[in-house]
Amino acid sequence: AKAAGRNTLRFYDPQMQAAVSARAALEADMRAGLQQGQFVLFYQPKVQRGRVVGAEALLRWRHPERGFVSPAQFIPLAEDCGLILPLGQWVLASACAQLARWSADPLLARLSVAVNVSPRQFHEDDFVAQVLAALAASGAPARRLKLELTEGLLLHNVEDTIAKMEQLRGHGVGFSLDDFGTGYSSLSYLKRLPLQELKIDQSFVRDVLTDPNDAAIARTIIALGASLGLSVVAEGVETQAQRAFLEQSGCDTWQGYLLSPPVPAPDYEALVRRRAET
Ligand code: C2E
Ligand code: CA
Ligand code: CA
Ligand code: CA
Repeated sequence: AKAAGRNTLRFYDPQMQAAVSARAALEADMRAGLQQGQFVLFYQPKVQRGRVVGAEALLRWRHPERGFVSPAQFIPLAEDCGLILPLGQWVLASACAQLARWSADPLLARLSVAVNVSPRQFHEDDFVAQVLAALAASGAPARRLKLELTEGLLLHNVEDTIAKMEQLRGHGVGFSLDDFGTGYSSLSYLKRLPLQELKIDQSFVRDVLTDPNDAAIARTIIALGASLGLSVVAEGVETQAQRAFLEQSGCDTWQGYLLSPPVPAPDYEALVRRRAET
């Protein structure tokens, strides 16, 4: 009876009601937006010792009235309502199509594209088949595709996760562990996963010069990566001083506003060409 009372209260709470209908409206808009081609991928270059080595694809929603809606606002909702499944498939198809176009250009062919994969998408039974289908349909080279996974995703069904990663790995697809250090991954199975890369979360990079704890965490991740034979990429690098600190600590690969924010594909191509000339 107590629980029912609470439910009744919640039901008539006008603020709650408004939040529920705002969510429902956003969800309906997202569904329509996917059909109407309002989603687009931006690309953020990843650099190693001054050379662009690839890009991370980041989803953008260009809504006719709301303007650019941040993925932080719609990805969690898309996860909740299941829309992440068609949206995630669209992201894979779109990134693979881009990868295929770039692989025909000598300057761009060697560069990788990293795609963020949400837990719900990864844990679909046919996830491996979905990735392979996106590669086959586009003709994109599997060796240039990287998938960024988060720690939370690895916690459920470890055996199944490893099996899926190994199948894709067998086709040449690479794996990166995103936001490393913010989740709960156990170091003991970190070594069992067929990973090639760890990404230092931007929350550690931000204050790396002023907060000794963040500096220690960044150094520890770099050392851990080195001892496991993984490359380590720092994200959210905004200043030369941060870049210099990371480089001195043994991390020479990074992404961040210091070089470029995520940009439309043609702008990314232009950046790669410009840097190739210098
Ligand atoms: P993330 O994968 O950790 O991506 C890094 C975020 O940091 C991006 O935010 C990027 O724009 C931002 N960033 C890059 N450089 C800097 C910098 O120097 N300073 C600062 N302050 N931020 C920087 P964005 O694009 O808003 O994406 C937010 C999150 O949304 C991503 O975090 C990722 O978890 C998720 N996301 C984005 N695209 C996709 C997608 O296609 N699929 C899925 N499942 N999730 C996505
Ligand atoms: Ca990412
Ligand atoms: Ca990240
Ligand atoms: Ca993040």
